[in-house]
Formats: sequence, C-alpha cells, structure tokens
Amino acid sequence: MELVKTIYSKKDKFPVPLNGEFVFVGRSNVGKSTLLNTLTGTNIAKISKKPGKTASVNFYKINNLFYFVDLPGYGFAKVSEKERIRWKQIIEMYFESRFWNIKIVFLLIDGRHELQKNDEQMINWLKDLDLQFSIILTKIDKLKMSEKSKMISYYKRLFGENYIIIPYSAITKEGVNEILNLVEVLGGA
Ligand code: GDP
Repeated sequence: MELVKTIYSKKDKFPVPLNGEFVFVGRSNVGKSTLLNTLTGTNIAKISKKPGKTASVNFYKINNLFYFVDLPGYGFAKVSEKERIRWKQIIEMYFESRFWNIKIVFLLIDGRHELQKNDEQMINWLKDLDLQFSIILTKIDKLKMSEKSKMISYYKRLFGENYIIIPYSAITKEGVNEILNLVEVLGGA
C-alpha cells in the first residue's frame, strides 16, 4: 500500500480531494492510532502516550486514490478550555469544508464502556451533518466472551439496525477485514 501522510490545521491547506475520505474519530486513547497503523500496515499514525496533544487533521493518502482522515481525539480530561475550543473548531472546519467528500465516519468507542457523553455529542453532530457513520468497538480482546456479547447487544440496542457496529481488536485483528471490506464497498479500494 502506497501511503503519504500530511498534517493540516488550516482549511485552505487541506489537500486536493481524491475519490473520497474515510474519517476516524473518537475519544483519546480509544485506539485510533493503533487502528490506522493496523489498516495501513505501517507505523504512520503515532501511538502517543500523551493523548489529546495535537489538534490537527491528518490526511493519509492511500494508493493515490482516497484518504484516511485522522481527527484529533476528544474527551481527554487534562486539556484546557482553550484547547477544547480549538479542537472543536478544527473538527468543525474539517466537516464543513469536506463533508461532501466523506464516504463514512468511523466512530471508535472503547468496547469496555457504555456510551460516554462526548461520544453522544459526536453522534448528534454527525447526524446533524447527515454524515454516514459506523461504530467500531475497540479493545474487544479485553472482554470475556460473556461481557463481549453483552456490550455488543447494548450497542446494537442503542443504535438499532441502521448502523454497522464492528467489534475490533488490534491484538486478535478481529474486525479488521470487516473495516477494510466496508472501505472497499464504499469505493475506496
Ligand atoms: P489513540 O489515542 O486513540 O490514538 O490510542 P492509541 O492507538 O495510542 O492506543 C491507546 C492504548 O491502547 C495503547 O497503549 C495501545 O497499545 C492500546 N490499544 C489500542 N488498541 C488496542 C486493542 O485493540 N486492544 C488492546 N488490548 N489494546 C489496544
């Protein structure tokens, strides 16, 4: 897979649109960088031990065809109000300028926990913008079989049949093919 990474924090500097964008968003530490590394087979998305640090939009150009877009993680307790506002602005700017090129938003949620307030806010935002989204339940390897089925049922009940929910683990690689298939089906491969 040929891959180029570019980091943007200004709208006028966003790259030329290609055949669509697949967006990854979620709370800090949910496993977003690990997933992007897994999907691209590289170490391109830095796995940070200091979450919530950079509020920038990372575009990963894949095979000169489409982008994986890495939005800054949210919900990190230790950021200042100023950084929180900056975070919101940058995501808003991204959605507003590129919504038309977005194929799907992958919303990553830690599969061990029930829906958090800021995930709910993100979902409402995505719905308001009329963006198609799918839920990736991360770190599913950390759950026992019974807990895993319980959490999957909880999210299925919460979202109904209209949304694809993908249990995923960077350790066992469960869900990785499902995510890549979705990218392919939506015309990204
Ligand atoms: P980000 O802040 O969302 O980019 O999260 P990272 O990708 O940096 O991951 C945060 C932590 O969770 C790291 O220590 C990862 O090794 C760990 N992690 C990520 N995905 C998984 C997973 O599927 N299973 C397990 N057990 N740990 C994971």
